[in-house]
Amino acid sequence: MTTCILAIDQGTTSTRAIAFELREDGGLHPLAVSQIELAQHFPQSGWVEHDAAEIWAATLQTCREVIRKAGGIGRFSAIGITNQRETAVIWDAVTGDPLHRAIVWQDRRTADVTARLVAEGHETTVQAATGLILDPYFTATKFAWLLDSVPGARNRAERGEVLLGTIDAWLVWNLTGGAGHVTDATNASRTSLMDLRTLTWRDDLCALFQVPRAALPRIAGCAEPRGDSDPALFGCALPLTGSAGDQQAALVGHGALRAGDAKITYGTGAFLVANVGDAPVASSSRLLATLGYAVGGTAAYALEGSIFSAGSAIQWLRDGVGMITDSRQSEALAQTLPDNGGVYLVPGFTGLGAPWWEPEARGAVLGLTRDTTPAHFVRAALEALAYQTRDLLDALERDGAPPLKLLRVDGGVTANAFAMQFVADVCGVPVERPAFQEMTALGAARLAALGAGLIDSLEPHNDESAAVWHPRMAETERDRLLQGWRRAVRAAIIAAA
Ligand code: ADP
Repeated sequence: MTTCILAIDQGTTSTRAIAFELREDGGLHPLAVSQIELAQHFPQSGWVEHDAAEIWAATLQTCREVIRKAGGIGRFSAIGITNQRETAVIWDAVTGDPLHRAIVWQDRRTADVTARLVAEGHETTVQAATGLILDPYFTATKFAWLLDSVPGARNRAERGEVLLGTIDAWLVWNLTGGAGHVTDATNASRTSLMDLRTLTWRDDLCALFQVPRAALPRIAGCAEPRGDSDPALFGCALPLTGSAGDQQAALVGHGALRAGDAKITYGTGAFLVANVGDAPVASSSRLLATLGYAVGGTAAYALEGSIFSAGSAIQWLRDGVGMITDSRQSEALAQTLPDNGGVYLVPGFTGLGAPWWEPEARGAVLGLTRDTTPAHFVRAALEALAYQTRDLLDALERDGAPPLKLLRVDGGVTANAFAMQFVADVCGVPVERPAFQEMTALGAARLAALGAGLIDSLEPHNDESAAVWHPRMAETERDRLLQGWRRAVRAAIIAAA
């Protein structure tokens, strides 16, 4: 009988477990899934928290359900983990209890700390060592905030009695019954504490961010055994053999394993991760240099750029202004028009991300005439996805990343064929959407299968027919549209100044 991999996908809004069957040809096929929504806590403006105990309970429940649905624990041979990145957890090494709610990646409470570090001139050093800009998004300042806010935590952390970790480490610690305090190198690469070249914690950064080494997990590769699950949890022990942060796991899931391979996930926001090969590429366009994955002593590096509002612009048209009643309508409505009629929508609802990094920018619609209809708004929102993607690809090119031959896509918005064709047209690169969409969980499962020695490479074997969109827009038309977009972005930024 074939064996199964249990993939845990702990995301920002839900916790999921997926059972993948590993077939003879090395392909991983989903058998069962279980999902539980996660409560979001907003104690103050700009603060976002999760209950770490709730995350662990949901992980356990979804895993148990999926094991049952897939035919019992005897069918499984390894566990892989993927998770929301940067979120900070603090817990008691003795009791295992969280000492505070987890601080979620979106949380801005440490903005004053990173602003001070920028003012003191630390950004260049931090960026050179970690590939990251100084921003409260990353974990280090969240760890320090937790240590300073929980009475006695800092002293106890120095003694190793209080532990710190991102969500993957919290899950590994719980899955191993407290035996393993381990994180994977991709999650560690998002803390601002890890050296991007050596993949080890840096004492100077731990000192700068005031995070004691004694509380931090050991850094492991992405496909490396990091202990067995406590037999009491699922009836017998399973080895934990794979782990990567969500965007990196998706890179692996897509099989974007070579320099010049890239994926973009179009959900609420959009995340581009481009494989740049076996050495980090420093960005001068404010993309993030990060680790793609580290497997068996070799590392693939990546450049990453985030678009804050992608599908959320469609949500706004539906829920905010009621121009559509269902996101799916957007495709047909956009296609009722021969072109955008000169209307551009800059979706700066929560500021503009890479490469603009204009947190104070706000949304804008330009080019309205008496002919403008809701269809123009919808079309402009979909077109904006493509223009924003193009801006990221241009930034990649400026940074000297290898040229892109193919853009692999996943996420809810990719159901929209008009938008995907427009991305291909505006970016001048073919766009490919795999038949199976759960790239994040698939990546975690593939890493776990490799770590357990069940497959011998990360090469994908899921070859169900993908959808491909080829660029077909004339260059003059593309240039004209991009000029219009750039004027609109400038206007949005000037309006916010
Ligand atoms: P997340 O993981 O960020 O919650 P998903 O990958 O589930 O996001 O995608 C949800 C997003 O996709 C929503 O913002 C929704 O507006 C958008 N979306 C879903 N279907 C379509 C569609 N057919 N056309 C355009 N946008 C869509």
